[in-house]
Amino acid sequence: MAGVPAGSDAFAYLDHAATTPLRPEARAALLPWLGESFGNPSGAHPVARAARKAIDEARDAIAAVLGCAPNEVVFTGGGTEADNLAVRGVAAARPGPVLCSAVEHHAVLHPVEHLGGKTVAVDRRGRLDLDALADALDAHPDATLVSVMGANNEVGTVQPVAAAAGLVRERAPGAVVHCDAVQAAAWLDPAELTAGADLVSVSAHKFGGPQGVGVLVVRRGTPLQAQLLGGGQERELRSGTHNVAGIVGMAAALVAKAEHRAGEAARVGALRDRLAAGLLGAIDGAFETAVPDGGADRSHILPGTLHLGIPGVESEALLFLLDEAGVCASAASACASGAQEASHVLAAMGVPADPDLGALRLSLGWTSTPADVDRVLDVLPAAVARLRDAGGTSAGAQA
Ligand code: PLP
Repeated sequence: MAGVPAGSDAFAYLDHAATTPLRPEARAALLPWLGESFGNPSGAHPVARAARKAIDEARDAIAAVLGCAPNEVVFTGGGTEADNLAVRGVAAARPGPVLCSAVEHHAVLHPVEHLGGKTVAVDRRGRLDLDALADALDAHPDATLVSVMGANNEVGTVQPVAAAAGLVRERAPGAVVHCDAVQAAAWLDPAELTAGADLVSVSAHKFGGPQGVGVLVVRRGTPLQAQLLGGGQERELRSGTHNVAGIVGMAAALVAKAEHRAGEAARVGALRDRLAAGLLGAIDGAFETAVPDGGADRSHILPGTLHLGIPGVESEALLFLLDEAGVCASAASACASGAQEASHVLAAMGVPADPDLGALRLSLGWTSTPADVDRVLDVLPAAVARLRDAGGTSAGAQA
């Protein structure tokens, strides 16, 4: 079955942080590798060599944007795999205490928890508390890994990666610094943001490449043990036949993203600000979860993200009504995938765990238009009013 076409008028898509449409440059680059071009890059004959050349060129292009050497690029099957390789791979190569910020994506948090690691507090805006990190490092000078994301996937807060890396070098010099730049790479210069990190994860489908392909940058000399064993591809660090179409598409998307990043950030940031002003003005009690003073300073938040707390409604009920009205958004995630599980990000930020507080993530991206914003401004305040009249739930609203 075909999906709903990107750019369709049937709905307003405000879930770019979950995945963003494929960029035309990526589509054009990868399509031949799903058709007439093919080959296993590990082989020795001309067909294999052509595939090898394609991934070598992709590797060079990706390295230039990520600010690393081509032989520091390790292709993976996406962000989750890159994060798992980073955390588990370092822990296997150099056992010892591991630390991460309390707001990491589960692809980092769960492996860290699995290893018995510790989380480091964030402030009310969701930014890593550098004093808390310094204390944690003083308590664990033998730490072997510290993971700090580039920007948060739920609330969009950008993290002080360079300052965190500086503290690690000073207080736990044996530790490897990992940065999950999966969300950040769509909006910020990844080379600049992650210059202080030894390991960097990115995922193609967050910046206009295909799903299921990503990179872990592994800077020279970083201790890392492979987590997938087999044919020894990617300098023995990630066995498995390369996803040639995915890698070629990812490189084209990353290059296009780098070229358009500043313009897109300014354009989309202005749309996001208009959406925020309209919704905060129209919905009583609504607030931006990562802007605690209620001011308009969103300089610490990615340009595409608007994360709201809306008292007196359930997130799921709100998403149901938005869905009916043609708006794709995400709870992200007062309730993770329908389960009544509180968001670890909001909890770490000190947002009260109130079942009557709807959490809503509206995330814009490179295809967002003023019409998308208009649709949400039209639909969301009315949906909230309807739910509040009905006692906060969709069951009440449907009755
Ligand atoms: N890290 C962050 C910050 C993310 O937002 C995501 C996806 O939402 C991931 C990791 C996982 O990436 P992937 O979907 O490519 O496995």
